[in-house]
Amino acid sequence: MVKARNAIEVKSAGELQAMRAAGLLVARTLAAVTEAARPGVSTGELDELAEQTICDAGAIPSFKGYHDFPASICASVNQQVVHGIPAASQVLAEGNLLSVDCGAILDGWHGDSAVTLAIGEVSPADQALSDATRSAMVAGIEAAKAGGRLTDISHAVQTAAERACEADGVDYGLIIEYGGHGIGRAMHMDPFLPNAGKPGKGPRLRPGMALAIEPMLTAGSAETVELDDGWTVVTADGSRAAHWEHTVAITDDGPWILTAPDANP
Ligand code: MG
Ligand code: MG
Repeated sequence: MVKARNAIEVKSAGELQAMRAAGLLVARTLAAVTEAARPGVSTGELDELAEQTICDAGAIPSFKGYHDFPASICASVNQQVVHGIPAASQVLAEGNLLSVDCGAILDGWHGDSAVTLAIGEVSPADQALSDATRSAMVAGIEAAKAGGRLTDISHAVQTAAERACEADGVDYGLIIEYGGHGIGRAMHMDPFLPNAGKPGKGPRLRPGMALAIEPMLTAGSAETVELDDGWTVVTADGSRAAHWEHTVAITDDGPWILTAPDANP
């Protein structure tokens, strides 16, 4: 590992392979949670399933105990944007929009990924919100190229979100207080990756760098409020929110989505 001041850590090929193993476990965990998430199931049950899947693989759920977070996933329902605390008392209902964020540490390396799930059938507007958020993530991933700069990703996320607003005829809120981050032997590393901004700024992107790219959109205002539990972030206006995230490595052959089940450079 090489890290200059104010730069993004560069991993060796072997280290990226180790991160890939962690990423695949996160992908597998989210696939299990996706399969299980349906009306009548609690977010507490989904948390147990995620924790079991991670521990069965000999890994550690990175969220649990992170600044005293009490669970292995964040489960954010409807107007909850991120950092929702799963609970046995929170039973999912038809039409809920659930975002699940999950992280695991395998052999010291982190993976971090989030999906937004339709519980039963959601409204077309909710599906469009989730799709718009996912497309912003994909645009950000595509901009994670060697030779570019960090805010090329920010700009791509913002531009894709704006395109989605136009295409859907909805003024989605793009949340900017939260964003992506460097990742490796810690979950949150330098740099902070803004979800909006001008391109061509920030550190130069080089092969071996790894970033978590994670846009959040709302169906209304981008203003958020943190609840008294010290974690749950909700939209200030009660509009629904979506969150998608992948851990991505920059390689000579383009972005490598470490937390996707089937992506290879
Ligand atoms: Mg995450
Ligand atoms: Mg993250």
